[in-house]
Amino acid sequence: MTARILDGLKIRDQIFAELKDEVRLLTAAGVRPGLAAVLVGDNPASQLYVKSKIAACEELGLASALITPPATVNMLDMLAVVEDLNRDNNVDGILVQLPLPPQVDTKRVLEAVDPAKDVDGFHPVNLGRLVSGRPGLVACTPSGCMEILRRNEIRIEGANAVVLGRSDIVGKPMALLLMHANATVTICHSKTRDLPEVVRRADIIVAAMGKAGYVEPDWIKPGAAVIDVGTNRVTDPAEAARLFRNFPERLEKFRAKGSALVGDVHPHAIHTAGALTPVPGGVGPMTITMLMSNTVKAARLRRASPRFSATQSTAGAR
Ligand code: NAP
Repeated sequence: MTARILDGLKIRDQIFAELKDEVRLLTAAGVRPGLAAVLVGDNPASQLYVKSKIAACEELGLASALITPPATVNMLDMLAVVEDLNRDNNVDGILVQLPLPPQVDTKRVLEAVDPAKDVDGFHPVNLGRLVSGRPGLVACTPSGCMEILRRNEIRIEGANAVVLGRSDIVGKPMALLLMHANATVTICHSKTRDLPEVVRRADIIVAAMGKAGYVEPDWIKPGAAVIDVGTNRVTDPAEAARLFRNFPERLEKFRAKGSALVGDVHPHAIHTAGALTPVPGGVGPMTITMLMSNTVKAARLRRASPRFSATQSTAGAR
């Protein structure tokens, strides 16, 4: 048996097509959604992430702005940047690219963002709304995982779902979204006892631990749906040999490049799972997609249709 591949790039394309239509309608009604990115210092990885987010805005017809405080920025100046963006009516979404330098209190900065513009869904107000199933902006990676499940018609209601990892940005919101969609959810973490046994009961597994190929194929109930959030760069040849022993092409690529990107689930799980997100090309493309979706949603909630916020619930809304 070989698992059905849950293609994140395909779903990104579907959602981008829907968003383009929505942006066109909003813009025609005088509301051009806009995202402002705050990029502190010159961390190359952060620069790359922000560049792709701005490119996605351009592709969709969203307005974008880039604010680049120096790496030496102090707390007060950082808060002033956020306050300016909170006040700017043309800005619907504020994205503070992490990590921030050590002299800046990250939590305080994120809490300074207006919850109505918190397109990363990190603000405690939005987390609270998610807990109670009320309208709000939901963290991008977990809402992207939900889109993958829904658009592939994987039954969530009544399913036993196991979430591996309990971080604020992935594991916890993921578990809440699954619970609101009527799954029976188990959340696992580094202190969970007998992880393989817990995973074996799952119809849906969401792995977000940051441990390359940790979930073994024989932990997976035959036919289960596996959403692999993990993004791990492997550089050790012995580790690559363990992960790619039946994938000569991937091993060859690893040898040529000296590294490979792998998820938290062992690649051989493709022979036990019923459906599986690949790494790369599964959850990865969904994070920026949902950032774009949240920006359009923020514009709609904030400016276009005040009634929307009264009628939508986080349980069903993207
Ligand atoms: P994180 O903050 O480091 O959290 C990791 C979680 O995994 C923690 O809750 C930890 O438990 C748990 N864990 C670690 N080892 C474990 C083990 N042996 N058994 C069970 N649980 C274990 O990580 P994160 O930010 O949530 O990210 C997780 C992974 O997803 C990373 O690989 C990250 O790169 C990836 N990610 C990908 C995207 C994307 O766009 N594709 C976005 C975000 C994150 P404790 O709480 O007990 O420490």
